[in-house]
Amino acid sequence: MKILLVEDERYIAEAVEQVLKKNNYSVDLAFDGEYGLDCALSGIYDIVVLDIMLPKKDGVAVLREMRKSGVKTPVLLLTAKSRIEDKVTGLDAGADDYLAKPFHYDELLARLRALGRRQEELFPDGILAFKGIELNPNTLMLTSAKGDTKLTPKESQILELLIRSKEMTISKETIIEKLWGYETDAEDSHVEIHMSNLRKKLKQVNADCSVYTIRNVGYVLKG
Ligand code: CA
Repeated sequence: MKILLVEDERYIAEAVEQVLKKNNYSVDLAFDGEYGLDCALSGIYDIVVLDIMLPKKDGVAVLREMRKSGVKTPVLLLTAKSRIEDKVTGLDAGADDYLAKPFHYDELLARLRALGRRQEELFPDGILAFKGIELNPNTLMLTSAKGDTKLTPKESQILELLIRSKEMTISKETIIEKLWGYETDAEDSHVEIHMSNLRKKLKQVNADCSVYTIRNVGYVLKG
């Protein structure tokens, strides 16, 4: 699970980063609101942990802009202030949960687990469905009313990203970052090969949807 932590107090950010990494999360840090927003808008994160008091752009403004842009990534807001009005403002702006600083790491971890679960609850049994096709990421089976076929792990991951992005275009860079991570020599051509094979398999099961290429932008799965 990939987490974006937006926190300007570096010693807190780095301490939390250590704890999260120890608990098998992958973590990227942003130290101000503007950069945090840029990162969050990439849509590659599973959860955003967002401080409220931030330089350049405060956390609530970041959150509002994320939601306005259609980014539905769960957000856990952090604040030094435990004032009730901050909590209300944050939740109204689209936060999924709220944690007052200083917090205990165990509580942070518990809340992240809860947010991770909430995302998975959208898809019972881990099966993802879109316009008559179903993907089981555990068995790699792609199923439609007209047939089924087995995907490779990479094809399954790409299809999962496309389904989860809910008819929003997803860029090649995002796919590379999600599938291979930042430190990678994977190239655009790797994505193109997997995408081409995925398209063939969607045709093979007579899917009512297909992957469209949006020139210079990325890919979108549509009916
Ligand atoms: Ca702060």
